[in-house]
Amino acid sequence: MNLNDEIVAVWPLAGFDKTLHYKVAEGMSRQIAVGTLVRVPVGRRFTLGVVVKKKADPDVEYSKLKMVSQVCYDQPILTPRLLELAGWMRSYYGAKREAVLETMIPGPIRQGMSPKRDKYVSIGKKLGQEELETLGRRAPKQRDLYDFVLQQIKPQKKSLILNRLKLSAATYNGLLEKGFIHEESRVAERVAYEDEIGEIEFAVEEKFTLNDEQVAVTESLRATLSKGGFATHLVQGVTGSGKTEVYLDAMEAVLEKGQGVLFLVPEVALTPQTVGRIRSRLAQYAHVQTVVWHSHLSDGERLDAWMALASGRAQVVVGARSAVFAPIKKLGLIVVDEEHEPAFKQDETPRYHGRDVAVYRAYLENTLCVLGSATPSLESYRNVTLGKYALDRLTQRVDDRALPMMHVVDMRQEIARTRKSTQLSTTLVEKLRDRFEKKEQSILFINRRGFSSSMLCQDCGHVEICNHCSVPMTYHRSDETLKCHLCGEEVNAPTQCPSCKSPKIRWKGMGTQRIEDSVTRVMPKAKVVRIDADTMSRKHLFRQILGEFRSGKIDVLVGTQMIAKGLDFPNVTLVGMVDADLSLHIPDFRANERTFQLLVQVSGRAGRGDLAGEVVVQTFTPHADPIQFARRGEVDAFLEIEAESRKRFQYPPYRHLIRQVFRGPNPDKVSFFAEQFAKRANERLGGRIETRGPAPCSIEKMKDHYRFQIWYFASSITNTMAELSGVASEIGWPPDVIQILDVDPMSLS
Ligand code: ADP
Ligand code: ZN
Ligand code: ZN
Repeated sequence: MNLNDEIVAVWPLAGFDKTLHYKVAEGMSRQIAVGTLVRVPVGRRFTLGVVVKKKADPDVEYSKLKMVSQVCYDQPILTPRLLELAGWMRSYYGAKREAVLETMIPGPIRQGMSPKRDKYVSIGKKLGQEELETLGRRAPKQRDLYDFVLQQIKPQKKSLILNRLKLSAATYNGLLEKGFIHEESRVAERVAYEDEIGEIEFAVEEKFTLNDEQVAVTESLRATLSKGGFATHLVQGVTGSGKTEVYLDAMEAVLEKGQGVLFLVPEVALTPQTVGRIRSRLAQYAHVQTVVWHSHLSDGERLDAWMALASGRAQVVVGARSAVFAPIKKLGLIVVDEEHEPAFKQDETPRYHGRDVAVYRAYLENTLCVLGSATPSLESYRNVTLGKYALDRLTQRVDDRALPMMHVVDMRQEIARTRKSTQLSTTLVEKLRDRFEKKEQSILFINRRGFSSSMLCQDCGHVEICNHCSVPMTYHRSDETLKCHLCGEEVNAPTQCPSCKSPKIRWKGMGTQRIEDSVTRVMPKAKVVRIDADTMSRKHLFRQILGEFRSGKIDVLVGTQMIAKGLDFPNVTLVGMVDADLSLHIPDFRANERTFQLLVQVSGRAGRGDLAGEVVVQTFTPHADPIQFARRGEVDAFLEIEAESRKRFQYPPYRHLIRQVFRGPNPDKVSFFAEQFAKRANERLGGRIETRGPAPCSIEKMKDHYRFQIWYFASSITNTMAELSGVASEIGWPPDVIQILDVDPMSLS
């Protein structure tokens, strides 16, 4: 007997950052593979862990090992490649293995939730007319139940039927005992496949004849696919150039080979159309099962979806960031749509970037990764320049529709001319009225992530700041409160300035509500609807509004850049960007890039149908590069000058940036410790990296903690991270100073 066969190495899911070894009972061995979730004893307790190796190192002491107590699922929950990916993420992002596994493996599986079984009901005995009538007389409710079951095409869930018919268990049991209906217990099929996003109406997609550019790109992708091996293609295509069609073609090529596809979008709820198009196109393949992966799934749906992929029953996943870890068995293609979107970066540990992990996963799986965007990130653009990525271009909108005309309105002149501070310029108002008269639709965007506006005293300039965080509080008119979006603090909105007692304290900034009000004032008859934080959190409401907008019941939709993505409304011919500057004047080396991407993205929402579109951009800095390049639709030229400026300062993508934040309740202690850390790091890494700081973060105080940061510019992440963790283990770490390490950070606040 080969002893090694019966030892497994296990990564526990919680509490340890090390590998443990166990013996496996003879009968269990067959059920265990690399990636299997098992329950194992640790000390006096039990924990769940993933099997990472079946034959353990010869130097583990066999006699001392405990036994694996239980195999949780009859198939592995992670693939060997995903385990390798976890190892890479640990060293690259400097996260604990347990944190990486926690991110990779969905909650219900980490808790060992068992697949739900449900009772399904079908007809047990076909009744003749006479029997039916007798049943109807003696037990009318049982007859109702029988008739209902009879009408169903397939067995239905018991709970669903009882609910629907409002019947008692007694009625049901009575009929069951007679043998007239039949009940079976099955693993429940939850809605993971039939995702509710499908409720939005999609025209069933016929396949288009691809235009010449699309054909060229599909040929390029297919050539790489048939060559095999790892490669990354950047598909740079103007909005409306038919990128999705190109992805679909590559997906079909891969599915026909019996392989699986991973399709990532920045945020599923905001890209329902892409999701719907993929699903409806793939519906033609009887053997292809598509899973949608997003944050609104219930635990049960999450479990089912994961298991469907892990078992090979489903081969395609369309999802947001965390779908990059989907346990697809034979992965043949990864697509990352809107690769430039900051939403791909996770803002808690492990702070990974979904696009970068996708590319690395494709490398491990030895397969193709397609990144798509109208406005590629500087990172991907640089990788093209370096020859690491292939570039495929789509320069024309399909059917040669023109890109919308962009008008830049100089708000300084507007204010000088009208002598009042206004939110909607004359140009914008005229065009809004014009669309309303023509029964065309408009969208107004506000350039900010949240939905907020703060309170400002018009006399002394006082701004209400959160007591716990150094950020302005947000004014909520519905309940006259000020809320802090960082810590949740809530106070009543003051009626006079707390500083100078002036009653002229007002909210500044342009919340969606104010824009809505302004539009209603200039067009009282128009139906104006705004999408705000509340709408977004209630998914049905969000969907309902989009549905009404699509059907033309809404004339003007007001929202933040959150609604700028993906949405495709053919009757929208005017898009207004109310305050283009807000993203421009933030202390972030990506400010220009973000503003440019946003403007291009936003203008892509206009003129998607047969009607030509127009865009109005209101700004106080009309000559800023991002605005001018966006106006002319010059993506390449913008990328070039932006790359030039990044290079001059050696900002990413020319070097990697690692951001280290220290925080704690005592500012002196935090800053002193940060100084010490920086000094040690410089001694260790001196010459190989550039260190900046420590300096206060731009949000100096958050949730009563003071924050300082150090920036490390380095050419190699893994080396630098190893050295930094060396410093961390040497230095005496004070208990009330907490660190955050953010590799390739997207947010610098
Ligand atoms: P992008 O993702 O580049 O913005 P889409 O893939 O969403 O563009 O395509 C824009 C629109 O054009 C979609 O409604 C799509 O159905 C349609 N479309 C794509 N390719 C073609 C084609 N070859 N002929 C006609 N219509 C097309
Ligand atoms: Zn706060
Ligand atoms: Zn005041």
